[in-house]
Amino acid sequence: MSAAVVTRFAPSPTGYLHIGGARTALFNWLYARGRGGKFLLRIEDTDRARSSPEASAAILQGMAWLGLDHDGDVISQFERADRHAEVANELLAAGKAFKCFATQDEIEAFREAARAEGKSTLYRSPWRDSDAASHPDAPYVIRIKAPSGGTMVIKDEVQGDVRIAHEQLDDMILLRSDGTPVYMLAVVVDDHDMGVTHVIRGDDHLSNAARQMMIYEAMEWPLPVYAHIPLIHGPDGKKLSKRHGALGAQEYQLMGYPAAGMRNYLARLGWSHGDDEFFSDAQAREWFDLAGIGKSPARFDTKKLEHLCGQHIATSENAALQQELLAFRTAIGENNLPDVKLALLSDAMNCLKERAKTFPELLEKAEFLLVDRPIEPDEKALKSLDPVSRGILSTLTPHLQNASWTRDALEAATADYADSNGLKFGKMAGPLRAALAGRSVTPSVFDMLLVLGRDEALARIKDAAQEHG
Ligand code: GLU
Repeated sequence: MSAAVVTRFAPSPTGYLHIGGARTALFNWLYARGRGGKFLLRIEDTDRARSSPEASAAILQGMAWLGLDHDGDVISQFERADRHAEVANELLAAGKAFKCFATQDEIEAFREAARAEGKSTLYRSPWRDSDAASHPDAPYVIRIKAPSGGTMVIKDEVQGDVRIAHEQLDDMILLRSDGTPVYMLAVVVDDHDMGVTHVIRGDDHLSNAARQMMIYEAMEWPLPVYAHIPLIHGPDGKKLSKRHGALGAQEYQLMGYPAAGMRNYLARLGWSHGDDEFFSDAQAREWFDLAGIGKSPARFDTKKLEHLCGQHIATSENAALQQELLAFRTAIGENNLPDVKLALLSDAMNCLKERAKTFPELLEKAEFLLVDRPIEPDEKALKSLDPVSRGILSTLTPHLQNASWTRDALEAATADYADSNGLKFGKMAGPLRAALAGRSVTPSVFDMLLVLGRDEALARIKDAAQEHG
């Protein structure tokens, strides 16, 4: 067996967990978890002006919601600045990096001259091969000696071999004149020290890979396996943006999409396993591989997300689903439910979870058991409680009273009543829904009768038969 897999998610804490970031995290998580490897989390907080603890917290919250647990401590890139500087100095001592004393003006002059001659403006410093004896007592940066003359090949598991001429690489700064490391150095040192074997990230980082490889090569560190995944597009084929709708993982949580459905959908966004659309976490972990990642951008499709979420809700185990539903209620600021309601909810789970695509839809169906008498029918339900319908409810009541409280007996009692009164069940269903739930979209009448129980159900029907006239 090959060496243990170590992947990482390395978000910059400048905002919420973007849906694209969530997918990157998921791909890394699936790849590691499916191979008995480790999935690490590094917060890339070196840009102090743009990083915030609130953003870090939001990213962690989003990952926790999605169930993307990471191994070990969260690593702060900023806190490792000394180590990054140490590597820059190591390269300096080995002659693979150099002190550059060029001023901003000199660099600008170099670029202008290069532009005038139609040459590359990528900076190659005159200090590159200078003698230490010639060094002034002045501020300097540490630059890497970019390789010349050949080609760098990024062997990417998604993009294939990507060739970059060495001439396209500059003598990149590693350490600024104030001694702070640049981002490119920090990423490589961290990935190396964390033992990262696979770098799976958005293809907006592909060109960084070439620059980062210069550092790996100079340090003679083994390269990680690269997989640069195409970004997510909107339904119109343009890069996903606010225009297309929600972008934050937390927004999806608050809209009530179940995490399992979201994971399933995000996994399919840019990755495929044959024709499989709906799958479990265990299947995703088993199937996920880099070869299944597509080369072209996937398009975000809310309908597909909803469809998968509906399937996950319908097939969830009841107790786990109830837990997740309650967590959703808490997330949207609802109060805790009393024990009696929790018991009703758990009795009703089987009938509630069919055909609900989101938790709000599920709660809408659960409304009949969450409300208390006297029930206030909504406008639509009120329409089903006209005098004729109330008459039906009153004359039906004794038939229900005499029935034993089982599905078969209740169905038989209502069918007999309908027959002897020349009514279709449909005529009775509306008023019964209005009476039992106060609304027109509910689980089936018999499901509600059974969940509510004889006393409560009959009391609601009697209330409705009398009131609202
Ligand atoms: N911090 C980078 C980002 O948020 C990711 C860097 C990487 O994965 O190497 O886009």
